[in-house]
Amino acid sequence: MTALSSLFSTADILVVDDNPVNVELLMDLLEDEGYTMVEGMTDPLQVEARIHSKRPDLMLLDIRMPGMSGLELLERLNTTWGEQVPAVIVLTAQIDEETRHQALELGAQDFLTKPFNHIEVLQRIHNTLQLQRLLSERSEKANLLESLVAERTRELKILSRQDPLTGLANRQVILETIEQLRSDTNDLLTFFIALEGLDDIGRLHGYDIMDQTLCALSAHIQTLTDVPLRLLGVWSTDQWVIVYGAEATHSQAELLSVRLLQALQAPISLRQLSVSVRARIGVSCTGFGRSPEQIVRTAAIALPAEDSQWQSYNQDLEENLQRISQLSDGLQMAIENNELHLLYQPKVDVRSGAVRGVEALLRWDSPDFGRVSPVEFIPIAEAKGYIISIGKWVALQAIAAQVRWREQQAVDEHFTVAINVASAQLMQPDFADWLIAATEQAGLPAYSLEIEVTESGLMHDMQLAMQQLQRLAAAGFGIAIDDFGTGYSSLAYLKVLPVSVIKIDRAFVSEMHINNQDQRLTNTVIDMARNFEFVTVAEGVEEPEQFKLLQAMGCDLIQGYLFAPPLKEQMMLQLVASGFADTLMFASQA
Ligand code: C2E
Ligand code: MG
Ligand code: MG
Repeated sequence: MTALSSLFSTADILVVDDNPVNVELLMDLLEDEGYTMVEGMTDPLQVEARIHSKRPDLMLLDIRMPGMSGLELLERLNTTWGEQVPAVIVLTAQIDEETRHQALELGAQDFLTKPFNHIEVLQRIHNTLQLQRLLSERSEKANLLESLVAERTRELKILSRQDPLTGLANRQVILETIEQLRSDTNDLLTFFIALEGLDDIGRLHGYDIMDQTLCALSAHIQTLTDVPLRLLGVWSTDQWVIVYGAEATHSQAELLSVRLLQALQAPISLRQLSVSVRARIGVSCTGFGRSPEQIVRTAAIALPAEDSQWQSYNQDLEENLQRISQLSDGLQMAIENNELHLLYQPKVDVRSGAVRGVEALLRWDSPDFGRVSPVEFIPIAEAKGYIISIGKWVALQAIAAQVRWREQQAVDEHFTVAINVASAQLMQPDFADWLIAATEQAGLPAYSLEIEVTESGLMHDMQLAMQQLQRLAAAGFGIAIDDFGTGYSSLAYLKVLPVSVIKIDRAFVSEMHINNQDQRLTNTVIDMARNFEFVTVAEGVEEPEQFKLLQAMGCDLIQGYLFAPPLKEQMMLQLVASGFADTLMFASQA
């Protein structure tokens, strides 16, 4: 065997010629050369069957044959085999151009002219086989590449529809699922879940544990047999959406929400740790007339503010949201547009009837909404961050007012003006320094100003709040705990905070003359405050009986409609001048 054929010795070669002598000759030649799988055929009509049962690598094909010409056979093979047609070398005696062209058009690779030159025959066969091999290797590679690309595309498609951490459906799939279900039913139940406390888990135990918590949670929710959910998907890391997709009534929404909250908030065991998250759920109960995106949005709007709660969407929520957004737009320019002003509510000495100080209370007169209560706009200002500039404005107004009153000698040396300070202000690391500087600049002693903070405001970041309050207390400012009794009501922290005043919340005062428990509580707070040497202020006193009781308990100051509502400066100063000693309240005492 020569080097030429050794590479292709097992190539399947089919010789087709009606002349047995030619077939014999070529077969001998090839077998001598070392080819082991050479077959000869003299009947062109049997070739197709042979190719069907076993496709040759190469066909040596005569053109002139009775029954079926080589060209005809080629044409038929092309029709049945298309691209898979075996390689063909045409054997021809005549060198007529026309036949050659036809053969080439039908895919013939080469020609061998009779009588055969042996060396040329072997070389051309070898060349054709080599070309075939190259082509088939290339096409194999192309196929492999194609299938790899297809596989990767499939993978990427799956990944592009998954949350990478939990493997849950992503936004796109959530919206598609809702779209699909919406066409089947109008009663589409969609839950928007807000998970709380994940950041704390991350900070406390590491972000790996936070990730594991999310995965464990998603696995747990998917195994709930009593919540046959259609889809659990991830809207954002800590916001998940559940599509229930069945006909649903309000009572079902309630049952499912309560069950989901319970499952979401259950402790999760991870290695040696037990962690848990808190959750809130907003529910959209209908898909009618809404796009999938709007359905998710309505569920999100319905999210309640408090943890462990659920709420279903209603029109009021939307209107509320709109009002908040409009108010927040208006609030942004309220200072520049001169729409804010302060009123002052007297605090009256229980023993003498003298007005010892005032609380500055903010008012917003909006050209679009009229008078808006601070109960409504202060939380918006806090959420939007406007409270920082508004708070500074309030402080500067109060300082200026106090300077004015002292200059006019309308108030005495010990008269105080109190301002309410939101937790966001207290969280500003330069708040205390700023206030100290502003007061100094105005030439005002610090003790003539009081800061009112709420318990919940302090709890946000006790450490930071403490620093600020300590600086202020050290500088001489009065520090009052506002709305005492409504927040954490922890007496323990009062010992560590530099507090000088306790303001007992109106909630206790307003019922104390008819509710024994409120009365006892108020009494206890006043007693305790006395022990700590705090000044006590009772808020929201409206009834003479309340006043009498508070007087008997030893409360120091009274703030309430019984004596005066929040007033404009001039009215307030008149009351400061007259005091309340001559009024019925104090007269009856004498
Ligand atoms: P607060 O600091 O507890 O103020 C006392 C609230 O009780 C005031 O409501 C006052 O008008 C009201 N009030 C006083 N006496 C009575 C009474 O006898 N009966 C009744 N029913 N209410 C009485 P206002 O002015 O609507 O302020 C509400 C809250 O808004 C304040 O509660 C305070 O938390 C906040 N706020 C007001 N001004 C400011 C401010 O400048 N900055 C901050 N951060 N919050 C403010
Ligand atoms: Mg207050
Ligand atoms: Mg209060």
